[in-house]
Amino acid sequence: MTVTRFAPSPTGRLHVGNIRTALHNWMLAHKSGGTFILRIDDTDAERSREEYVEAIRADLAWLGIAADREERQSARLDRYEAAFENLREAGRIYPAYETQQELELKRKIQLGRGLPPIYDRAALALSEEQRAAKEAEGIQPHWRFRLDQEEPIGWEDGVRGTQKFDPAQLSDPVVRRADGSWLYMLPSTVDDIDMGVTQVLRGEDHVSNTAVQIQMFTALHAAQFAAAKQVPDFAHEALLVGKEGKLSKRLGSLGCDAFRERGIEPEAIVALLARLGTSLPVEPIADRAKLLETFDLSTFGRAPAKFDDAELDRVNTAIVHAMPFDAVKHRLPEGMDEAGWHAVQPNVATVGEVGEWWRLVTGPIEQLEFSDEDRAYLAEAAATLEWGEDPWHALTAALKDMTGRKGKALFLPLRQALTGMDHGPDMGELLPLIGEEAARRRLERAAAS
Ligand code: GLU
Repeated sequence: MTVTRFAPSPTGRLHVGNIRTALHNWMLAHKSGGTFILRIDDTDAERSREEYVEAIRADLAWLGIAADREERQSARLDRYEAAFENLREAGRIYPAYETQQELELKRKIQLGRGLPPIYDRAALALSEEQRAAKEAEGIQPHWRFRLDQEEPIGWEDGVRGTQKFDPAQLSDPVVRRADGSWLYMLPSTVDDIDMGVTQVLRGEDHVSNTAVQIQMFTALHAAQFAAAKQVPDFAHEALLVGKEGKLSKRLGSLGCDAFRERGIEPEAIVALLARLGTSLPVEPIADRAKLLETFDLSTFGRAPAKFDDAELDRVNTAIVHAMPFDAVKHRLPEGMDEAGWHAVQPNVATVGEVGEWWRLVTGPIEQLEFSDEDRAYLAEAAATLEWGEDPWHALTAALKDMTGRKGKALFLPLRQALTGMDHGPDMGELLPLIGEEAARRRLERAAAS
């Protein structure tokens, strides 16, 4: 069974980039009836906040991509401790004593010599006595994972194809700080093992982390850390960029609240993000099952996916125009029934706009000015109005015969008198909603104005 996870740190709200990662993991799991885990990466107690955990859950629920299971790293510290001990005993984790400044200096020197800034493993070369001396001085070590430099790292990436890394070109990553707190690398690997994650799908900014984590999986398997000895399949998707092709600050803060305020439907975000950056066309597909059918990592391209607000608006409008009454009825103004929705639906870009048009039915409407000629015409209209199956077409057909008016001269004064506007929803649908009494009153009032 497919198990995927989305692993945000609750240090802020979700933005469109991580919404996309969450969605793709949800789709990957749900395409084959698998499990989508929300893993809260909250080992950083100082920066993690409960309000963000709640906001993440609420945003995922609004998007319709709620987790099948939730896990929290802060509840699993004993597992990280156990993994740490296993790897330390196996000689894969070692203490290091350099200060930030010392490391910075080493980096500067390497860069100055035109060398890549790879950690020189000075701490690995320390003897027992030298370590003891450091600790006697009161220096608490931080801890690094020792990469196996003999073992080339490779995997078949679900998006990027064959990946190869030379471990000698990577620094032994720090896995734990001197104060005992955890960095991201090891806990994430431990979680993927314990939670049976079969597919890790994340942004391409994690590619080199994957190289390191693959060695962590192997090291933990060798250290008999857990019974399961599976390494997940990895896939790294190209990052999301703004229309202009750059990583923008705006995208980093664009989240569900902003979408909601703009009248964007969750289905529109899902339809857009499901296809953006793939070889499939972006289409206004509100049916999740249909999107799932075509979801396939092999369609993902390696070029950055371009997020364009205008494209989202287009998808949104198309989705609103196809929305069935049942899906929207609880959000409509009081008294607006199915006929009302159908009358105004083609005229709105967002559901929130229906109120403006519904006002034309409930009134009061604006009083416009008419010429003498039009006032006489409207008096004739009021006298001619008959209420049947299709009052608008009956009225206009009769007036056409009686007055010889046609086109704009026939229709516009009527629309203006009946709605107070020059344009708007189809009058054939609107007039029955306005009703006989109000329609007659509006025509008579315009005629007498
Ligand atoms: N918390 C990590 C992040 O936000 C998770 C990365 C991962 O998917 O492993 O980048």
